Amino acid sequence: MNITPVASATHEEVYRVEDADSGLIGFIAIHSTTLGPAAGGLRMRPYDSEDAALTDALRLSEGMTYKNAAAGLRLGGGKAVIMGDPTTIKTPALLHAFGRAVNACEGRYWTAEDMGMSPSDMAELARETPYVAGLADGAFASGDPSPITARGIFNAIRRVALHQFGAADLTGRIVSVQGLGNVGWNLCGLLTEAGAKLIVTDINPARVTAATETFDAKAVALDDIYAVQADIFAPCAIGGILNEDTIPLLNVKAVAGGANNQLSKPSDAILLAERGILYAPDFVANGGGIINVATEVLQIEGRVDWVAKKLVALDDTMEAILTQAAKKGVSPAAVAQDVVAKTIKARAA
Ligand code: NAD
Repeated sequence: MNITPVASATHEEVYRVEDADSGLIGFIAIHSTTLGPAAGGLRMRPYDSEDAALTDALRLSEGMTYKNAAAGLRLGGGKAVIMGDPTTIKTPALLHAFGRAVNACEGRYWTAEDMGMSPSDMAELARETPYVAGLADGAFASGDPSPITARGIFNAIRRVALHQFGAADLTGRIVSVQGLGNVGWNLCGLLTEAGAKLIVTDINPARVTAATETFDAKAVALDDIYAVQADIFAPCAIGGILNEDTIPLLNVKAVAGGANNQLSKPSDAILLAERGILYAPDFVANGGGIINVATEVLQIEGRVDWVAKKLVALDDTMEAILTQAAKKGVSPAAVAQDVVAKTIKARAA
């Protein structure tokens, strides 16, 4: 196996990983270990090129630095990607090779589940390295983070509702949800319990049918989710969906969801603010999952209480960001960026 350093002006360490025997090609990106060991999931996708895979790893690992800082965790930011279709080329041999690459980072990078990975894949990695979280069993196993991620997003939705409508209560509020996977589905459950009405979409028709039956949700076509009249939009599928094409279509007062990197570019936060749409920064709103994973990385005793306290602190952080943004007349994304930059600088000093 070849583990080759990739030069980077922005990241502490970046590696290209190749194992000819198993067909593994991937990247490990460690953006920052200022706050602690870099932690962030492993994503497997059929990227168009090595450049695209590397760019994704660099961008996502930087996002993890911000997410971990916003969640008040003693963890830095890292991420890893494997090139290829997980449904066809993912084998135990490929995962073992990747596990050896993670192990070679000697704990400076901890991996976990992300798109294209499952808890059983994490168990395969764990055969080669202890630096893996999101396991289904074991002393500090934290399991599926999605329910905690959804709880954090639900809290963020209540916060934006409070700011835009004067009440956090969601009874009768309409929430449009893009993506009904692990996070979106759990979120729909919480919203329904809270009395909200749902408008949903997903590329998987079976998920949409299930949501209409389970949550009495109204289904719309994929591209129609942007223009539907609703109170709050919750993107829970892919990144880059808030952009100069979609933002003019939005018919909501706030956006708060779970997808990573929702803004196509930083200036899209300004476009949202100009339209009077309050944006809950994604790396704060979706921090619940990494809080759950952190209990495994940091070997926290009394996991349930610890997670509950961290979720309350995350909610307080979101409130402080939204309040400050309103006071200064700037976008919450800019304030959130400032908050995490200060946290990291204080720790580095
Ligand atoms: P998932 O793969 O379980 O679900 C994603 C869902 O989105 C799937 O049902 C898929 O069919 C659907 N989808 C994909 N492209 C779509 C599109 N263009 N339009 C509509 N639907 C589409 O993933 P997940 O774990 O639910 O994560 C969702 C998002 O939240 C991702 O961006 C992920 O990175 C982010 N996130 C997840 C967690 C977690 O705990 N799982 C934590 C933080 C952030």
